[in-house]
Amino acid sequence: MSSDVVIIGGGPAALTAALYSLRGGKTVTIIEKDAFGGQIADSPRVENFPSIRKISGLDFSNNFFEQVSNLGADMEMDEVKSIEKKDNLFIVKGQYGTYEGKVVILATGVKHRHLGVENEDKFFAHGISYCAVCDGPFYSGKDVMVIGDANSALQYAILLASECHHVDVVTLFDKFFADKMLVDGLMSLKNVSIYHNRSAMKFNGTDKLESVTFQDTKTKEIIEMKDEACFIAIGQIPDNDRFNNLVDLERGFIITDEDMKTKTPGVFAAGDCRKKKWRQLATACNDGAIASLNAGNYILSLK
Ligand SMILES: Cc1cc2nc3c(=O)[nH]c(=O)nc-3n(C[C@H](O)[C@H](O)[C@H](O)COP(=O)(O)OP(=O)(O)OC[C@H]3O[C@@H](n4cnc5c(N)ncnc54)[C@H](O)[C@@H]3O)c2cc1C
Repeated sequence: MSSDVVIIGGGPAALTAALYSLRGGKTVTIIEKDAFGGQIADSPRVENFPSIRKISGLDFSNNFFEQVSNLGADMEMDEVKSIEKKDNLFIVKGQYGTYEGKVVILATGVKHRHLGVENEDKFFAHGISYCAVCDGPFYSGKDVMVIGDANSALQYAILLASECHHVDVVTLFDKFFADKMLVDGLMSLKNVSIYHNRSAMKFNGTDKLESVTFQDTKTKEIIEMKDEACFIAIGQIPDNDRFNNLVDLERGFIITDEDMKTKTPGVFAAGDCRKKKWRQLATACNDGAIASLNAGNYILSLK
């Protein structure tokens, strides 16, 4: 299969890139390994996408999928394993097929690291969240918890403290591994309590999260902490090593400039898979649009 633009991933960044490329008259192949729509399909409620007051993540994904497939995209279910550049063509090898494109847009997203603790999946979206920016407003005025000890966890805690009644911050070790400014900022907040040396063992509740069981790693004491929500911020996992022949990575995230260009002409990256500060729907779509427009210019330059 040969197209002008081959897009790796089927989330919001990829679908936006496809939308712009298709409307710009390009042929587009989108390759997704799991489910078109990306991470947002797991979200029960999205309330921060411009012009849409409220929508489920699944409806958002389905609408987007339909919009792009109606424009004539070639949508492939496959996992991309490698990409090589031959002359002015990219050869994209998947588990099942091989695809060719004049440009490649990498939009592979991230996965949020899970604790792997009992009932974590059961209470996901019923009190457990991996995104404070996305889900914090649902717990305005409530008591919540953050598990994590690095920059993201502290950013989550500071953000949540501004809208929630109280925030418990729980860490596995005896200190934070975050920027001093963030630690100082957190310490200065009156509605935050910090608990070090606690290892999460189990999430408890019936229909929704009611408490979390921890073990004190020093005294071995079992402790139950009651909060209405638990925000887990123990890292995001990008999966881009397989593309390191074409792109530079920092902690697994793809380095681009503000035009979404990578170090290889013709290879662009968009969305959560990029090295950047804010990973949101709106920012993923922004990246996808920019990548597609610059990909169009690159294709023109080939002629
Ligand atoms: C539960 C939850 C709730 C959220 N709520 C909100 C919210 O309310 N508002 C908001 O703004 N943001 C929210 N977010 C964040 C938002 O979903 C992400 O920022 C956004 O989806 C990023 O889009 P993306 O296209 O960059 O990546 P993703 O959505 O992660 O999509 C990447 C896709 O690429 C595929 N892929 C990866 N590697 C390969 C490969 N090698 N071959 C083929 N396919 C591959 C993956 O399967 C995935 O489908 C939420 C996230 C989660 C998890």
